[in-house]
Amino acid sequence: MKKQNICIIPLKCSQCGMELQAVEGEQVYYCNNCKTALYLKDGELEVLPVEFALPSIEREKEEYVFFPFWSFLVDIEFFAGLKQERFTQFSLARNKQGVWQYHVAGLWGTDDFGYINRTSNLFMRFCPQYKLSSNFYPMQKCFLSREEAEDLVELIFLSLENETIVSLSKINYKIKILSSKMVGIPFYLDREKDVYRDALGGKTIVPVSLFNK
Ligand SMILES: [Zn+2]
Repeated sequence: MKKQNICIIPLKCSQCGMELQAVEGEQVYYCNNCKTALYLKDGELEVLPVEFALPSIEREKEEYVFFPFWSFLVDIEFFAGLKQERFTQFSLARNKQGVWQYHVAGLWGTDDFGYINRTSNLFMRFCPQYKLSSNFYPMQKCFLSREEAEDLVELIFLSLENETIVSLSKINYKIKILSSKMVGIPFYLDREKDVYRDALGGKTIVPVSLFNK
């Protein structure tokens, strides 16, 4: 029997009652009627805070494609070893409140960890400061659950810091997730290179072949 990859799961918006359409594996549902994002946790739909980054690279409005990124405010406590100042990637990701913001690409599920890691790393490495848009845009599907994304924060932290600190294994640290939300990051199609490029700094790329994988 041929395996069917896509099936429609009937769900109703917890805010307005409108039927939601979702494909199997999709983690975040958007209500087109009341513009609410919903997250399915233990069989219950909860309202998920969603924001959209304002593009800083100008394109025609219809050219922007918003990719879902989980965004976490993270506190990292160090118990011994190197001073925090040594963490160059950290200082980039650190915001004014003294906590770090981590972004984890949600376009794929954990079966495709390589793509999640690569895309998140590219984004975190240049760590763009972006303004938020007040508009609601159509967002691409998110296949990575919030819990999986939280687990990946540490791996992304390690792979970023591993480039600058040799003796990372000797450092004791504790990662605490303070808050989570979803941010739509605008991308646009770079036809010459056949990639989607972020519309914030143009540095994070997603090859077209990896999109909607
Ligand atoms: Zn609704």
